[in-house]
Amino acid sequence: MQLFKHYINGRFETGSKFFESLNPANGEVWARFPAATEADVNRAVDAADHALFNREWPRYSATQRGKLLRKLGDLIVQHAAELGELETIDSGKLATETRAQSAYVADYYYYYAGLADKIQGEVLPIDKPDLHVYTTREPIGVVAAIVPWNAQMFLSATKIAPALAAGNTLVVKASEQAPAAMFKFAELIHEAGFPPGVVNIITGFGEPCGRVLTSHPKVARIAFTGGPETAKHIVRNSSENFAHVSLELGGKSPIIVFADADAESAVNGIIAGNYGASGQSCVAGSRVFIQSDIYDRVLQQIKARAEEIIVGDPLDKQTQMGPLATTAQLERCERVIAASIEQGAELIVGGRRPAHVTYGNYFEPTLLACPNQSIDCVQTELFAPVISALKFDTEEQAVEMANNSAFGLGAGIFTENLARAHRVSQRIRSGIIWINTYRAISPIAPFGGFKQSGGSREAGMDAIYEYTRTKTIWISTSKEPMANPFVMR
Ligand code: NAD
Repeated sequence: MQLFKHYINGRFETGSKFFESLNPANGEVWARFPAATEADVNRAVDAADHALFNREWPRYSATQRGKLLRKLGDLIVQHAAELGELETIDSGKLATETRAQSAYVADYYYYYAGLADKIQGEVLPIDKPDLHVYTTREPIGVVAAIVPWNAQMFLSATKIAPALAAGNTLVVKASEQAPAAMFKFAELIHEAGFPPGVVNIITGFGEPCGRVLTSHPKVARIAFTGGPETAKHIVRNSSENFAHVSLELGGKSPIIVFADADAESAVNGIIAGNYGASGQSCVAGSRVFIQSDIYDRVLQQIKARAEEIIVGDPLDKQTQMGPLATTAQLERCERVIAASIEQGAELIVGGRRPAHVTYGNYFEPTLLACPNQSIDCVQTELFAPVISALKFDTEEQAVEMANNSAFGLGAGIFTENLARAHRVSQRIRSGIIWINTYRAISPIAPFGGFKQSGGSREAGMDAIYEYTRTKTIWISTSKEPMANPFVMR
């Protein structure tokens, strides 16, 4: 069994409380992690606070911070295979995907390394004589970064990289599910040479770890990715410290397929958007709207492709879909599918654990044909390889159906009609629109949602300003001393 340690104030610590992690591919205990106590969280925040004000970190120039981030990126590339493998064993995600994603995470560090010395203020054309007024952009302070289990290296990079580029310090709370890769990453932070306390990595449960961290008086900024119910706790906790909060939440994204679409491209988009990562993706395109003329044909094509998918050991190169991360997740998925069938959904393919594996949290790629939008599987974020397909006749109807969700993270549009692609993309209430493609991401492209998907944006140029505060500096250029305010001239 592997033992992992917290990384606090530049040291690796075993902790005083622990929990065990199961490998979802075989159900066996494979690792033991420290569960952060209130005292652990306090020490991590104190270390970050101390590093922010009293040590060498504030004296690093922006260019030096950029160089450190670049070095960290290089180390991630060198260790991508190991990081990916740890994530696979811990989460059940495909090794082919986790390795590639780990290597790509480095690009987020490179991108913000380049931006570190391009954060600048401005001189204001002030409306008063004899005053020179300018702004600077300063780090906000201690950042609490909280990530969900499903892509921890990636979802922490979108927070850590801009936060460090801007000169902040962090306490990163890895999810209690599948945190292994984050602790290997802590070793890389150490090796890169960040001063002690600048980045602290801990894990633990919502109570006490998440609560203590997000309500801590020394935390000035909370960057959260996770589900909407947890987000409510985060917002409530932040009423204790008035930290600036950003929220990246769940999704129930639509994919609209018009009759003029390239069918092969559309089916590939639907498969990638739902069966990739076993559907455990915040941008899963799990509500699929298909125009009536091609509805039956596209359904048959998805069914045929679903039946070909190789479900099995995520470390095996041949495997195309691994298990779900937890048994609770698998059982919830089964419950929602059963209820949806009772409400009138027709099971076209999947809907059960595969017969050929008798252990692990495996679930077959599933397609349900749904007669209306009120069925459970159409409205609930399942985080599983489950597609809910619905029929539409007109463009107007498609837009209306796509917008009929509490969420608004991603959306896919498949059509060969360029004018329609633009028109529909303008009307969809989602933060990311993919036209004739799906699930592409980049450090250069802002990522985030509308409605209950949370309104924040990560990645891209603007995200760096989310980790700075503007300071306004007024200087008198007058030869005269400042006037007595009680003497009229
Ligand atoms: P979750 O909300 O259960 O947990 C997220 C994190 O919050 C974990 O680290 C957890 O320990 C922590 N937490 C729990 N209770 C807390 C509390 N009271 N105070 C502070 N922290 C607390 O989410 P999950 O099940 O790990 O992940 C799945 C969810 O994340 C889905 O809804 C998915 O859509 C969403 N997600 C969103 C994005 C995005 O970028 N929008 C990306 C990936 C996942």
